[in-house]
Amino acid sequence: MKVSIDSSLCDSHGQCIAVSEGLFDFDTDGTTVLTTDATEEHRPLAILAAASCPSLAISVSDA
Ligand code: SF4
Repeated sequence: MKVSIDSSLCDSHGQCIAVSEGLFDFDTDGTTVLTTDATEEHRPLAILAAASCPSLAISVSDA
């Protein structure tokens, strides 16, 4: 599974962080990042985060 954050779309409101139980967070420079390599176990949280993102900045794929 691959989780991507398009930083050109992210507006840093943090909805993904609020719903993902630690899978996403702000980096020290305020960029939204994954806190760990996403595994298959993270798929439900990653999909929830993607669905919560008003900017459609998060993508989840099988790549
Ligand atoms: S919800 Fe989307 S726009 Fe908001 S911080 Fe997360 S990736 Fe960025």
